[in-house]
Amino acid sequence: MTVFPKPRIVISKCIGFDPCRYNGEIVKDKFVERLEPHVEFVCVCPEVEIGLGTPRAPVRIVSSGDSFKLIQPSSGLDVSDKMQEFSRGFLDSLKEVDGFIFKNRSPSCGFTDVKFYSGPEKGPVIGKTAGFFGGAVLERFGDRAVEDEGRLKNLNIREHFLTSIFAFARFRRLQQSPSIHGLVRFHAVNKMLLMAYSQTKMRELGRIVANADRNRISKVLELYGRSFLEIAPPLVET
Ligand code: SF4
Repeated sequence: MTVFPKPRIVISKCIGFDPCRYNGEIVKDKFVERLEPHVEFVCVCPEVEIGLGTPRAPVRIVSSGDSFKLIQPSSGLDVSDKMQEFSRGFLDSLKEVDGFIFKNRSPSCGFTDVKFYSGPEKGPVIGKTAGFFGGAVLERFGDRAVEDEGRLKNLNIREHFLTSIFAFARFRRLQQSPSIHGLVRFHAVNKMLLMAYSQTKMRELGRIVANADRNRISKVLELYGRSFLEIAPPLVET
């Protein structure tokens, strides 16, 4: 029987791990509960990490010229810089990761579909964007499996997410003990899967494995990894 390595997944801490939502609540999610024994979760609550505490007054994204601010309307606090600094530090320290599961619509964690407003208090919603932390993840790790708990209720998206994280974890294991033999085997085992996603990419990956230029294994794996990660992201569309 194939033994898959455990994917490493960063998850919004309020999804089943800690009652750290602004109102002190926790989000129950059956899919995350079922996934837990099979992955290594890294939990994070960016709003708690920047010192907002729980419970706390909510924050919102406010349009400010060409950019956005993360504002707590009740206190007038602007936590944009703090959140950007935290996101940078946290993501810099992440050595290995295969995917992310975020709380949807959160101005911090959401990675899509987050409302932004024209002003801190009474301004109306004028559009949607990514949250501060979720957006930073997309910039840095947009080639990994990035999803939110709302979208993961869609079974097509869920299947693609699961396929991606286990394939990425397997490739990561190969990178830890690099060998041409291991890469040839990885490609052979995943051939049908790759073909189902993109025949063109599958052939491109096959050429990299054939290594006509006689590159070192480190270079071959780098080329293969780059191309391999490119297959997944377009498939996250609904
Ligand atoms: S959505 Fe993110 S910032 Fe908000 S409570 Fe959950 S983990 Fe914390």
